[in-house]
Amino acid sequence: MSKRVYIKTVGCQMNVLDSEMVIADLKRHGYTVVDSAKEADTVLYNTCSVREHAEEKVYSALGKLREAKERNPEKTIGVMGCMAQKDQKVIFQRAPYVDLVVGPGQLHTIPELLGKVRAGQGRQMAVSMSRKDGKQSVVARSHETFDPLRDPAMRPTPFQAYLRIQIGCDKFCTYCVVPNTRGPEQGRPPTQILAEARVLADQGCREITLLGQTVNSYRFDEDGRTTDLSSLLMRLHEVDGIDRIKFVTNYPKDMTERLLTTVRDLPKCSPYLHVPAQSGSDDVLRRMKRGYTVADYLDMMERIERILPDAAISSDFIVGFCGETEEDFRKTIRLAERCRFKNSFIFQYSVRGGTKAAERLSDDVPREIKARRNNELLAIQDAIAKEDNQKLIGTEVDVLVEGPSKRALRDLTKPGQPGEPIQVIGVPVGDNGGPRNNVPHEEARVEEARVEEGDDSQLIQMTGRTHCDRIVVFDGNRRQAGQMMSIVVDDASSHTLVGRVKTVEVVTIGV
Ligand code: SAH
Ligand code: SF4
Repeated sequence: MSKRVYIKTVGCQMNVLDSEMVIADLKRHGYTVVDSAKEADTVLYNTCSVREHAEEKVYSALGKLREAKERNPEKTIGVMGCMAQKDQKVIFQRAPYVDLVVGPGQLHTIPELLGKVRAGQGRQMAVSMSRKDGKQSVVARSHETFDPLRDPAMRPTPFQAYLRIQIGCDKFCTYCVVPNTRGPEQGRPPTQILAEARVLADQGCREITLLGQTVNSYRFDEDGRTTDLSSLLMRLHEVDGIDRIKFVTNYPKDMTERLLTTVRDLPKCSPYLHVPAQSGSDDVLRRMKRGYTVADYLDMMERIERILPDAAISSDFIVGFCGETEEDFRKTIRLAERCRFKNSFIFQYSVRGGTKAAERLSDDVPREIKARRNNELLAIQDAIAKEDNQKLIGTEVDVLVEGPSKRALRDLTKPGQPGEPIQVIGVPVGDNGGPRNNVPHEEARVEEARVEEGDDSQLIQMTGRTHCDRIVVFDGNRRQAGQMMSIVVDDASSHTLVGRVKTVEVVTIGV
């Protein structure tokens, strides 16, 4: 039987990375990757549980596969990732034609389990232990990931990669399902991380983004010595070939003076910090059990502004959390106005089973009010971002070029356009075609990808990012992908800088 796999990914950067590794593993087991569920004999969904909406989207996509499965019972359908861990057997009940359910800590079992399904051994399930199932160390082991398998072919661009340094989360914010789906917080050993960074550099990767749910809380204890994120950054800075290092997502309380000065002193570290505030009201933060007050957050902002005056800061906000009053929401607006984030991901609160908020608090903000607060905050955030981006007009920014912009890809896919065929291989793309560094959960769209063929020198819109993670588009050509280029900014909107390649002026004297 042929082994053609299609993988659809929703969710955060962790999921994008997990999909990359599963694909690498499956390829080693003789699978080839195809562009659509239709062409595939194995269809895998990598899923997200952070909000209900993300789950509903997967169930509805699975519903569409029911008919295909009835027509072709040989087609294998699998659900992997956070929803698999959270819902487990419920998935088989809601979608009885699913063959495989695999949690994020068990992804290495996929080739074997697929083999069993194909051999007629029936449905297969592999999930990690739940928090209460045993000793912490044993539970933690069951959530370990298999990161060392790297496959540049599955990355949005070969010169950018995610590198997980921390698994799981122990913060237990009352609204959040991640500590259950991803298990206990564990730092990966620095030796493993460094080895992986070297593999990535050898594969031509120039920018790495370190991943962790609270990445700046990273710690690894070994032989009586503790490695924190700062010491890890110092060691990663030595890796030849890597030019840029980013890290997401940060926890406000662990944004220490030491970490900020490390970022300041290491030129490869991006002065870009994603530090979700979630709310600007102390009452709401307390109910969320975030572990800091608005004053603590503002102290952190002042620390950042003092040590890294040019840094770009971004945030996440939840609007309409249990008990959020209009006054609480006004405080969130005030915080956003004070902090002037580069961008913010704004989410409407969604009750998640198994969380403290679901058990103890009432989801009492009506849907329409959540939606209105969402739009209001978004409009304020966009206006701030636009104003700040426009201050960059006329300046020169260093851009790591990623590839054709979304607009260029769209134009190229129009029938009869030069540059066809476009091969779609499944990576997330940002608003302007570039892969997103910071993908809001469930909105991560994994569909478009790399233009495999076409005239390399054709003038098309290219996209890349500045050291501060700002998206830049400019007219260029595909050969520039992977290069660091100086771009002069001519225009700016809330999400994008528009520029042109800086040309060197040639002055001829005495002719
Ligand atoms: N570890 C990261 C983020 C994890 S989830 C952190 O701590 O910041 C990504 C974002 O989804 C969160 O920052 C939060 O804003 C949002 N989120 C998490 N649970 C949610 C829920 N139940 N409803 C709505 N948004 C939620
Ligand atoms: Fe969820 Fe809070 Fe952990 Fe982030 S820090 S993953 S929001 S529990």
